[in-house]
Amino acid sequence: LSERLGGVFERLTKQGALTEDDVATALREVRVALLEADVSLPVARDFVKRVQEKATGQGVTKSVTPGQQVVKIVHDELVAVLRGDGPADALKIDNPPATILMVGLQGSGKTTTTAKLARRLAEKQGKRVLMASLDTNRPAAMEQLQILGVQIGVDTLPIVKGESAVQIAKRAKTQAAMGGYDVVMLDTAGRLHIDEVLMDEVQAVRDIAQPRETLLVVDGLTGQDAVNVAAEFDGKVGITGVVLTRMDGDGRGGAALSMRAVTGKPIRFVGLGEKMDAIETFEPERIAGRILGMGDIVALVEKAQETFEAEQAARMMKRFQKGLFNMNDLKMQLEQMMKLGGVQGMMGMMPGMGKMQKAAEEAGFDDKFIRRQVALINSMTKKERANPDLLQASRKKRIAAGAGLEVQELNRLLKQHRQMADMMKKMGKGGMMKQALKQMM
Ligand code: GDP
Ligand code: MG
Repeated sequence: LSERLGGVFERLTKQGALTEDDVATALREVRVALLEADVSLPVARDFVKRVQEKATGQGVTKSVTPGQQVVKIVHDELVAVLRGDGPADALKIDNPPATILMVGLQGSGKTTTTAKLARRLAEKQGKRVLMASLDTNRPAAMEQLQILGVQIGVDTLPIVKGESAVQIAKRAKTQAAMGGYDVVMLDTAGRLHIDEVLMDEVQAVRDIAQPRETLLVVDGLTGQDAVNVAAEFDGKVGITGVVLTRMDGDGRGGAALSMRAVTGKPIRFVGLGEKMDAIETFEPERIAGRILGMGDIVALVEKAQETFEAEQAARMMKRFQKGLFNMNDLKMQLEQMMKLGGVQGMMGMMPGMGKMQKAAEEAGFDDKFIRRQVALINSMTKKERANPDLLQASRKKRIAAGAGLEVQELNRLLKQHRQMADMMKKMGKGGMMKQALKQMM
């Protein structure tokens, strides 16, 4: 029984390690999934290469296939890339009136998103918001924003025909300052494609408006194009974040990954429909699942990992109940301890360990000490781990040398193991172990 327990981890890494072939095969599928989801080719290629390096040699959880395991690794990496440095911050709107500049191509959803965000700021954060349309190009564009403003109960800058975008921006800033607004949102004009005139206008507005946030609104369905747009806007105007619209549609959202990879700018919000409440903060997990389209596999691997950990804990519990406690058990415990925050963290959690903690501190029982103990156990043979009483003086010397430590240290370890094994035996007999373990796990 002890052999089986001790061998679990070894078996897992020896037989179950992902080979280069496993990874390459699975990644071919992943690459197709990425391209189908509209991730641009260079980004997909780059991403797959990184995962390849990461995945090769990693262990495979029992009861899932290597391919499934790779998909899980891909998913986690995708989430990490999409998340970037951390959760997308809330909009920076300190120092009122703070200006938020909305930029993007025509039809990407700027006006709709402006109103959606204004509504959020007003309702969720109690901010006084002023919206202004700088769209002097499209007929009725200003009226569109005004109508939305009435609908959501947010003020809009009165429309004055014949003004330039820059003039409107100036007036909006003045009005916001005088009117005691917290936030002023500038909804700019778009073009069908990037052109000089548009960029010049947006730059001029930016220089006047001095925005705290410049949000690029892009149509999540446009895939590759969206990436060029993002790179262009970021280069010329400088953006602080991206809003992906139309994520309620059939698109798989690959643009999110490409954009993140190309501009490095965070995706802040996701548009999920035409209604005013159809906007959400960006959730990397959701988009990752969508891009890969392999959500069930990810869930399956997670489940298998959980099951594996639970099985392992159950097996250990059974051993303890029988009063069994060899070096493998001790090693696992020591490793668990390090995982749970080292000596301090662990002792505090164990019932009835108050006295031991004091003694431990006095005896110099710290994290370094634990690492040395694990090193000693590692240089024992399987048989010796299962039954440390067998150790002869000559073997002791070699084990200590193998771990680069003194024999004294090994003797301390053996003594400690002895004490713990005795305790287990006593507790196992009295049925106390079950309760103690239950509290620990
Ligand atoms: P603008 O030209 O960038 O200002 O784009 P608009 O805000 O006028 O939006 C163009 C169209 O897209 C409108 O019909 C919007 O209702 C629609 N729209 C905007 N955002 C979304 C979204 O997240 N999902 C869906 N389905 N439609 C959207
Ligand atoms: Mg518009």
